[in-house]
Amino acid sequence: MPNPKRIAVIPGDGIGPEVMPEAVKVLTASGANLELSHFDWGADRFLAEGVTVPQDGFTALDRDFDAILVGAFGDPRVPSNIHAKEILLGMRFKMDLYANVRPVRLLDSSLCPLKGATPADIDFVVIRENTEGMYSDVGGVFKQGTPDEIAVQEDINTRKGVERIVRYAFDYCERHSKHDGTQRERVLMCDKSNAMTHAGGLWQRVFKEVSEEYPQITTQHMYVDALCLQMVRDPRQFDVIVTNNMFGDIITDLAAGLQGGLGMAASGNIHPGKTSMFEPVHGSAPPIAGKKMANPFGAILTAAMMLSHLGLKEQAEKIEAAVLEAVKQKRTTHDLGGALTTSESGDWLAERVAVGSAQSR
Ligand code: ATP
Repeated sequence: MPNPKRIAVIPGDGIGPEVMPEAVKVLTASGANLELSHFDWGADRFLAEGVTVPQDGFTALDRDFDAILVGAFGDPRVPSNIHAKEILLGMRFKMDLYANVRPVRLLDSSLCPLKGATPADIDFVVIRENTEGMYSDVGGVFKQGTPDEIAVQEDINTRKGVERIVRYAFDYCERHSKHDGTQRERVLMCDKSNAMTHAGGLWQRVFKEVSEEYPQITTQHMYVDALCLQMVRDPRQFDVIVTNNMFGDIITDLAAGLQGGLGMAASGNIHPGKTSMFEPVHGSAPPIAGKKMANPFGAILTAAMMLSHLGLKEQAEKIEAAVLEAVKQKRTTHDLGGALTTSESGDWLAERVAVGSAQSR
């Protein structure tokens, strides 16, 4: 038997510690050979000890684990959100997890607010640059508190950063199929180069250059405002979308709306060959925390994405099939039209996955 994959589990804040046990339940039921280690990073620890990330925390994650599974960060008791920034952005930036991969897939027509949309219409992936852009927090505030106050927030785009994310998107397109089994074949670059000409110009030039290495892949381009309109009017046209940090953040919330809401969306923060981190797209959702109503599917699909990344595809597929079945049978939380609590929803899935595991042994 091969060595177990070592997973760092960091539930975090708000609904994070509610959805994460459900993801762990389902991972265990899948029969995947995993060794899980739990970390208490988050608001409680920060408020008790003043520690956001323990010394050498990121180095240890990188050195000792094959992957990291995260819940969510953010707590109203920490209005500055400093712990969330240091943990989450710290992982993305300091561990150089430059590709944020967000699959957008409609499992069942009933989940989509678009009239007549079917699963065949919505099956695309957003590849978001994860280490630069407007989220680099470069800039400053001058003359604060005066009528002459100036706030500068720089948009950092490096040749290296843009090139590696664009190449990641083409490689992704080349290596992945859609859920109907057909090959992915189009990469669309989304920017706002008509207004933001300096950064946009770099993205345009790099996209053109890199695309020449992939003549079999069709290229497309859209300004981010047009893309938002098209995502709602005709999502079928999208296949692989590559974009910067901020546009990626925004359009994937819109995209989550197409697949049933934030409770359904999964993501991976990836640096090929290094320890990568997987987290649901949703945040800590303070308004629903502690109410047993958080949908655990985003976290569970994220766990499946992590298994796939680690080469445990069979177990990942079992989990995805069980989620699909749960949606069809309305064995879900309220946001998807069901009547189950978070843990009842996880229990149902875990049972289903365990039956599948026993049958395949
Ligand atoms: P962040 O800024 O941390 O990304 P956000 O502002 O995008 O967070 P979320 O915390 O993701 O906000 O949640 C926004 C709202 O979406 C919640 O208040 C809740 O109504 C809904 N929501 C988010 N996640 C879930 C979930 N797993 N299940 C059900 N509803 C959810």
